[in-house]
Amino acid sequence: MRTILISLMILSTFLPLANAQVADLKGWKVGLATADITPQKPMWLAGYASRTKPSEGAMHPLWAKCLVFEDAQANRSVLLTLDIVGIGADFSQKVRTAISKKAAVPMANILINCSHTHSGPVLDHVLTSIYPLDKDNKAVIASYGTWLADQLIQLSVRAVKDMEPVQLFAKNGVSRVQVNRRANQEKDIDKLKELKGPNDFAVPVFKVQTLSGKLKAIVFGYACHPTVLSGYQWSGDYAGFAQIELEKLYPGTKALFFQGAGGDQNPLPRRTVQLAKQYGKSLAASVERVIEEEMKPLPASFKSAAAGITLPLTTPPTLAELQKIKQDAGSGYIYEWSSNLIDQYKQGKPLLSNYPNYPIHVWDFGGQKLISLGGEITIGYAVKLKEQYGEDIFVMGYTNDVMGYIPTELVLEEGGYEGDTSQRAYGLPSKWAAGIENQILSTINDLINKIQ
Ligand SMILES: [Zn+2]
Repeated sequence: MRTILISLMILSTFLPLANAQVADLKGWKVGLATADITPQKPMWLAGYASRTKPSEGAMHPLWAKCLVFEDAQANRSVLLTLDIVGIGADFSQKVRTAISKKAAVPMANILINCSHTHSGPVLDHVLTSIYPLDKDNKAVIASYGTWLADQLIQLSVRAVKDMEPVQLFAKNGVSRVQVNRRANQEKDIDKLKELKGPNDFAVPVFKVQTLSGKLKAIVFGYACHPTVLSGYQWSGDYAGFAQIELEKLYPGTKALFFQGAGGDQNPLPRRTVQLAKQYGKSLAASVERVIEEEMKPLPASFKSAAAGITLPLTTPPTLAELQKIKQDAGSGYIYEWSSNLIDQYKQGKPLLSNYPNYPIHVWDFGGQKLISLGGEITIGYAVKLKEQYGEDIFVMGYTNDVMGYIPTELVLEEGGYEGDTSQRAYGLPSKWAAGIENQILSTINDLINKIQ
């Protein structure tokens, strides 16, 4: 009897613990790893055609940060955020293929988001023809790209090893830093009494908390070009300052920034370090408010669907037209762009008539939807997606391939930089054909229906 009693006591002592362990196993697991990716030698800075020399030191380090999520059924997903202007399709494919193998995660469940900082290093095949690069500059860029790819792959492996049971929360905050740069002229910004949209002021936030209540990671996004700074020092721009500020506010926590539909949104006014800090701190305060308030707990179930669609381009310019453009330009990136296309004509190579494999991903973390798109998506996409799927969804741009601007139908019709001429900066022969917005939105709809 005594033995039975003791056994029962032991059982009852252990039961709650055993239950707790079972409950833990059925929750989320998240692993985190970060790497300083600041170039160790002077390199060309990305984003502006007007720079005339390589970098001169760092304002603060550039980061690559990686989170691996695992739900109750052991479905794994990987999110990488980079203080980089953009990555090309080949780079992305190579890194994601390796991560897929090393971290045992399907390709559809790997997102690499670029913050689009204009004070990060140039990578191969992204806007490269806009910079006046010599052979040596190009060699440094190529070797940095190889090193970076390896760092990202290693990050995913380290993040898997770091996995531990966590709770996951989500909520949108708000920040009004962004200004629609198509609807408001930068030169008038100080005197404008009213700023015109469209905008999406949402600040999507994921909170990752260990079971002991420690804040492990904060993932936050915003739709706005990191173009406050245009100098020669490495920095993550306002997004870098926001991450630094959050990591100061919550010691021991890592903050990961992702770029949203910021294609036509600028931080205005801009061009001083103090403004970059102001916007960073302001965005961090928006995230802090969300973190401190009650957030939506997310059940540990992950679903995803992905597609790579072909986006059509309009008819490219003729050889004669290109020769005229080249002559009129005389130098600069339009000159480079037209020269490259003329070379293609002369070699008998067909010019691109469409862009294959435009990446679209829909992720669902226990009911929290995250829609991710490639390229510099303009804000109209976020506005339309929220009209259709609710204000709570998270929208991510600049992910897995940054091949150009992705205008809405309206922006495409209006033209201007985001609707037309930016295609030249990206080396594409012509603007997108009418109908791409509908193609993208209907694919998103199909993907959402797939995982309902
Ligand atoms: Zn841009």
